[in-house]
Amino acid sequence: MMDGAADLDGRVIEVQAEALACVDLGALEELRLRWLGKKGEITGLLKSLGALPAEERARRGAAINALRDSATAAWESRKGELERKAEDAALDAGWIDVTAPSGARPAGRLHPITLLLEEVIDHFTGLGFEVATGPEIEDEFHNFDALNIPKDHPARDVWDTFYTDRREIPRTHTSSVQIRAMQTRKPPIRVISPGRVFRNETIDATHHASFNQVEGLLVDRHVTIAHLKHTLETLVAKLMGRKVETRFRPAFYPFVEPGLDLDVQCVFCAGVGCSICKGSGWIELIPGGLVHPKVLDACGLDPDQWQGFAFGMGFDRMVMMRYGIDDIRRLYDGRLQLVRQF
Ligand SMILES: [Zn+2]
Repeated sequence: MMDGAADLDGRVIEVQAEALACVDLGALEELRLRWLGKKGEITGLLKSLGALPAEERARRGAAINALRDSATAAWESRKGELERKAEDAALDAGWIDVTAPSGARPAGRLHPITLLLEEVIDHFTGLGFEVATGPEIEDEFHNFDALNIPKDHPARDVWDTFYTDRREIPRTHTSSVQIRAMQTRKPPIRVISPGRVFRNETIDATHHASFNQVEGLLVDRHVTIAHLKHTLETLVAKLMGRKVETRFRPAFYPFVEPGLDLDVQCVFCAGVGCSICKGSGWIELIPGGLVHPKVLDACGLDPDQWQGFAFGMGFDRMVMMRYGIDDIRRLYDGRLQLVRQF
């Protein structure tokens, strides 16, 4: 039995029990100050040593040091436990699934133009159409002449054409690809030609100097306007994911006879009239018609044997309607956000 130090054994148990009883770090800090602080219990005990005889002072001093070590160890141990508990509580509060893979970044997605184009290609290949492509820089024959748009005809102005120094044309429509298809394939011909086209337009919310078109061409015997109407109505229903009100209006284009425009009811206002449909409740979507006999002739096909229908859509407008994008510039400037999907 260590004389004069037996009481300190009890204090070791006391500080250990107190440490375990601390339920948070605040309480533990109070314990540290009470036992180990400058004005704490242990400092007080050490100060009382001076009054003791030398022999007893050494023994009791060692016992106080042991108590201080025990108190420090009890405090550190409990501190570690409470800190881990606090971390667990923070995780629980945040509903963090610790089994989830970490460091996930937002994944890239396909551009809406690509997404919808894949659907269109899928739709038409299912009907036996092939995808045809052609050069983006065209000559006048394929972009205009063969399409029954004679030189110096005012109709050429309609397309706001860019010209290169060598009078080459960044194609104003993918109709040039249809001409190439008729020149190189034997009927029956069924092609769609998606691609980028170029117009000298002032860029605003509904116009761009470069945009995408998807055109379609079918050449066979006994082709009528009914085939075209059915094809377009099916296409629109497919693309919009539901049946949408449509209407056909007669229209003039030099490369078709007769020509027509397919309008769809404005999806932004359900036909009531808004800024996007310019108050009409309709959006002009797909011009088309039966291929003009002169166009067939220019491509070496006998108009008495073959007929065809052709259509072309401003594909960006279709993408904008499908995904609720109200400014064409968003498709090209990298600030694309999905607003809503129809
Ligand atoms: Zn509208």
